[in-house]
Amino acid sequence: MRQITHWIDGKPWVGESERHGRVFNPATGEQTGEVDFATAAVVDEAVAAAARAFPAWRATSIAKRTASLFALRELIASNADALAGLVTSEHGKVRSDAAGELARGLEVVEFACGIAQLLKGEFTENASTGINVHSLRQPLGVVAGITPFNFPAMVPLWMFPLAIACGNTFVLKPSEKDPSASVLLAELVAEAGFPDGVLNVVHGDRVAVDAVLAHPGIAAVSFVGSTAVARHVYETAAVAGKRVQALGGAKNHMVVLPDADMTDAAEAAVSAGFGSAGERCMAASVLVAVGGCGDALVERIKARVDRLAVGPGTDEASEMGPLVTAEHRDKVASYLGIGASEGATIAIDGRNHEINGDPSGYWLGPCLIDDVTPDMAVYADEIFGPVLSIVRVDTLDDAIGLIERNGYGNGAAIFTGDGAAAQRFETEVEAGMVGINVAIPVPVSYYSFGGWNSSLFGDLHVYGPDGVQFYTRGKAVTSRWQHIGQHHATLSFPNAAASERAAEQGP
Ligand code: NAD
Repeated sequence: MRQITHWIDGKPWVGESERHGRVFNPATGEQTGEVDFATAAVVDEAVAAAARAFPAWRATSIAKRTASLFALRELIASNADALAGLVTSEHGKVRSDAAGELARGLEVVEFACGIAQLLKGEFTENASTGINVHSLRQPLGVVAGITPFNFPAMVPLWMFPLAIACGNTFVLKPSEKDPSASVLLAELVAEAGFPDGVLNVVHGDRVAVDAVLAHPGIAAVSFVGSTAVARHVYETAAVAGKRVQALGGAKNHMVVLPDADMTDAAEAAVSAGFGSAGERCMAASVLVAVGGCGDALVERIKARVDRLAVGPGTDEASEMGPLVTAEHRDKVASYLGIGASEGATIAIDGRNHEINGDPSGYWLGPCLIDDVTPDMAVYADEIFGPVLSIVRVDTLDDAIGLIERNGYGNGAAIFTGDGAAAQRFETEVEAGMVGINVAIPVPVSYYSFGGWNSSLFGDLHVYGPDGVQFYTRGKAVTSRWQHIGQHHATLSFPNAAASERAAEQGP
C-alpha cells in the first residue's frame, strides 16, 4: 500500500502523523494508499519553509526563474504517463481524460514561462517637469492553494506555476481523495531546480484547511471546490486579512436551439455530460431543449449511450470510468429516485448500464432525466455525476432566464446556426465562461478561468492575466532625479501645476 506524506522544504516529511486518510482505486474498491493528515503544527512547518525560501526566491532573477519553469515544463511532459497513471488510479477517470487534464495543466506552465513579459510594468517620462512615474508588480509572499478531487493534477497546475513564477512561495493542500499526483508534481518542481521551500504540499482535511485559513504567514488563498466550502474559505480568509479567490460548484446549462444540427448537439451533450463521469465543474448537467427539439435530442443521446463503454480507466476501450467514492456514487444514484418522485421521466437509468469492470468498483452508467422543471431537486442541486437533466422550454428568452435564476454561473453553452441568437446569448447569459457550439468552454491558459454568482467568490479568476494580478500587488513609483535642491516648502497637495511653478522658479 502506498504511504503518502507531505512535501516540505524540498523533501518528504518524516514525522509521525496522528491522523490519516484512506485512498482507494475507484475501479476496484480496493484501498491502495494511506495519506498523512496535517495538523496545524504541520501546516506551520510548511509555511515556515515557504517563508524561509521567499526572500531569496523573490530576489532570483526572472531569467533564472524562467529557466526553472522551462525545465519543469519538460519534466511534466516527460512524466505525463506517470502523472496520468496516478490520476486514473486514485480518481478513476479514463487514461485519455487524465492525459487531457495534464495537457491543460501544462498549458499554464507554458504561460508562466512567459512571466518576463507578464510582469512588465509601465513607465511615464516627464509626468511633471523632471518627474517620472513607473509601476511595478511584486509578489505577495507565501500563498496557498486548496484543490478538489476532480482534477488532481490540473487544478494545482492552475495555481502554483504562476504563483511561483511571480516570485511567491507556495503551500498546496490537495484533495485527500487523490493526493499522489501533487506529490509527484512537487518532486518534479525540485528536480527542475526550484529551491527547497518554494513549493510545499500538505495533505489533509478540514483541519489542514482551517489552519491554512488562520495562518498569519499566508498572504493569499486560491481555492477550488464545492460552493459551501468556497463560501467558508472566502469569508474566513477575508476576515483574516488575506487576498482570496474561491471557485465553487456549478450547474452548467447547454442550450440547443431548433436550428442546431441535432446529431452534433447530442454528441456534444454526451461528451460534456458523461466525460469524467460528470465529475467536472464544467460538465453539462442541464440540457435546455428549446422549441420542441427535446425528442430529437433524447433519441440521439439514447442511441449513443447504448454503446458507451463504461469500465476501468486503465482499459483503453473504456470511455467512462467509475465515480470517486462509494458514498459519492450512492448519492449521485439516489437522484434517480428523487427525480422520479418529483415527476421527472427517467429516460436512461445508468444503474442498468453494462459495466465492463470489477463489480466492487464505484460504478454508475450514464443517466438521462427528462421533463425536469426548475422546482425539482435534480435541477437545483449540483449532482456532480453522470446525470444529465433535460429541461424543455419554448424560447431562447426562457433559456436565458432559466440560467439567470439558477444561481450558479460557471459555464453556459449554446448550440445554434443562428449568429444573432448566439450573440444575444453571449451578451445576456449569466455565466463567466460561454461556449458557442462548444460544450465545455474551458478558456485556454492565456485567458482566465472563473464563473459568476455562486460559482466564484472573489474578484479575480484563476490563471491567465487574472492569475498574474492575483499573485502580485501593484506599486506606483514617482521619482525625481533632476532639479534636486528646488524644493520650496508648500503645504498644498502636490500637483502638476505646483511642480511646474517650482521648476520654473529654479533653485
Ligand atoms: P470539496 O469542496 O469537498 O473539497 C475541496 C477542498 O476543500 C479539498 O481540498 C477538501 O479537503 C477541502 N474541504 C472539504 N470540506 C471542507 C470543509 N468542510 N472545510 C474546509 N475544507 C474542506 O470539493 P470536492 O468534492 O473535492 O470537488 C468537487 C467540487 O469542486 C464540485 O462542487 C465542483 O463543482 C467543484 N469544482 C469547481 C471548479 C471550478 O473551477 N469552479 C473546478 C473543479 C471543481
